[in-house]
Amino acid sequence: MEKNEAVKKKAYDPTFANEVFKNVDSGEGIKTCMQCGVCAMSCPLKEHMEYSPRRIFALVRMGERDKVLGSRDIMLCTSCYTCKVRCPRKVPVMDAMHGLAHYALVQGYVPRKETAVFGRKFWDCVYKLGKIDEKLVAQNFMLADGMIAGIPKALENMPMGLAMLFHHRMKLLPEKPIKDIKAFRKMLDLAEEIGKGGDK
Ligand code: SF4
Ligand code: SF4
Repeated sequence: MEKNEAVKKKAYDPTFANEVFKNVDSGEGIKTCMQCGVCAMSCPLKEHMEYSPRRIFALVRMGERDKVLGSRDIMLCTSCYTCKVRCPRKVPVMDAMHGLAHYALVQGYVPRKETAVFGRKFWDCVYKLGKIDEKLVAQNFMLADGMIAGIPKALENMPMGLAMLFHHRMKLLPEKPIKDIKAFRKMLDLAEEIGKGGDK
């Protein structure tokens, strides 16, 4: 009986849920989730997830802070929109998953370090050139932990790189920055400021 009461108390711990509703982008939308499972069934990545979006939202309500913010699943979302379109309660599932991933990083959790590093290198390239240079992103990503760790990664990924070159998905020569890159960077700086809650 005592044990059941402890479980019950755990299942309704609202502390973390309130933290999410207040601080996570689109986190408030989780309030309306009725646990129907449509998002979980629809997600193309469900086979690769330990917890589906539905379960992540249930864990939020249960106060399972470490399980949610430490889960690699919140970083797996590829923004396919399926869950968002299909949710009968109009929960912004995809946005909440991204919101949780961002919040996890801000809180010092690194659920999937490689995804975070890749995202950073992708962003750096867009900032530098105004577009993507696949070679530059791949090179910076693979060398993120230094040359010694990077060489085996580069060898492992070489067939993919060659295939991309062969199918004209990647150019051999370095990409040049877009026209008026300074204005583009100014726009990104402004977007970043707005994202941090700045005035303008
Ligand atoms: S589809 Fe919507 S209501 Fe159903 S479990 Fe997912 S988020 Fe909740
Ligand atoms: S948007 Fe993300 S969480 Fe939603 S179905 Fe697609 S991959 Fe899954």
